[in-house]
Amino acid sequence: MRPMAQIAMVMNLDKCIGCHTCSVTCKQAWTNRRGMEYVWFNNVETRPGQGYPRRYEDQERWRGGWELNRRGALKLKAGGRLHRLARIFADPRLPETKDYYEPWTYEYRNLTDAPPGDDYPVARPVSQLDGKPMKIEWSSNQADDLAGAPAHGDLDPMIERARQQASDKVRFEFEQTFMFYLPRICEHCLNPSCVASCPSGAMHKRTEDGIVLVDQDRCRGRRMCVTGCPYKKVYFNHATGKAEKCTLCHPRIEAGLPTVCSETCVGRLRYLGVVLYDADKVTAAAETEDEKALYEAQLGVFLDPEDPAVRLACAAAGIPDEWTEAARRSPVHALISRYRVALPLHPEYRTLPMVWYIPPLSPVVDALSETGHDGEDADNLFAAIDTLRIPLAYLAELFTAGDPAPVRACLEKLAAMRSHMRALNLGEEPDPAIGSAVGMRPE
Ligand code: SF4
Ligand code: SF4
Repeated sequence: MRPMAQIAMVMNLDKCIGCHTCSVTCKQAWTNRRGMEYVWFNNVETRPGQGYPRRYEDQERWRGGWELNRRGALKLKAGGRLHRLARIFADPRLPETKDYYEPWTYEYRNLTDAPPGDDYPVARPVSQLDGKPMKIEWSSNQADDLAGAPAHGDLDPMIERARQQASDKVRFEFEQTFMFYLPRICEHCLNPSCVASCPSGAMHKRTEDGIVLVDQDRCRGRRMCVTGCPYKKVYFNHATGKAEKCTLCHPRIEAGLPTVCSETCVGRLRYLGVVLYDADKVTAAAETEDEKALYEAQLGVFLDPEDPAVRLACAAAGIPDEWTEAARRSPVHALISRYRVALPLHPEYRTLPMVWYIPPLSPVVDALSETGHDGEDADNLFAAIDTLRIPLAYLAELFTAGDPAPVRACLEKLAAMRSHMRALNLGEEPDPAIGSAVGMRPE
């Protein structure tokens, strides 16, 4: 066992209202600078949708001078002595400006200074960089809340895959549209491909807390990290010619403060905390052959801070006692490992992301129509998971490489908790069948 500590985050997607406060406060703190106008370290995506940058999940687009090895990880096509040259000159496929967006403002003078005409004057968008009039095609959340309707050309490709895998019960028709918000930051992965792809050694993962950072003095601006990150969470600063990314607000973390996005989140949905993991298990988890086993494999790297053997190993590895204690009290550890109600985003990318998500427990469509409640009694609670407004198959595409079983298990626990708390709040006796069916303790 080789224990290490990591700062991780869990976001509860049922609570996100898509207000973008997190994005704006992060921008004010970190990217409100020349060369970074188009950058949102934190962005909030409407799902289904294409994300930011547009279609970042279409991994085929980014391969360029790379190919997959037999375990599915990215490697450079060239080998031997050419390898080093290839690292520099391989053709990195980078997102283009149109995949991010060109920042704009509005020409408000049009409202007052426009000459008389047949139309009402409007505030026209102009480029924030050179003030020229522009047509807005895409931005950090241009996907609208039309639940995957093909706005702006492309349909979310995961809708199509989920549709193929879904049972007959689940229909993807307009009257059954669904949407939810997915806030995203850098995942501060345990197996960060941005670090692996950096030829200058600038991209690094801190040993003490696992935060992934770019050393600005060492960065040579080759942008292999932008290509190498499957979540597309490294950005290129056009003014300095260097890569930049989410720092998990490390100066604040070092001062005992939460990240800006966590502190300002209106929905209070971001849980920050310490987790302990076994570094010896990371490679095996990343190389798990069976995609359906990836979630369990990634879950298997976490260590239980209550376990005396783990605490001893942590002390021997030089992890301070207060960090081990913080892991024991960490809501992140509890939500991921103890209660198993949080899931990793795209585990099939094999970078072992450290921002996990509690999937949204959307309204239960059939149960609502029959009883007026959202399936809170034991008789229909578990059957109702099949008729959730957001199809299990879609959530499985996002969080478990297509395996619906772990998503179902999460949602059953969340539904049981909702039912239990509703009964308590109404002064009623909670239904013991619900708690025992999902393995919750009676209390
Ligand atoms: Fe690196 Fe991307 Fe993982 Fe962040 S999300 S640590 S940038 S690979
Ligand atoms: Fe969602 Fe919180 Fe961000 Fe608002 S501030 S969009 S609720 S994550």
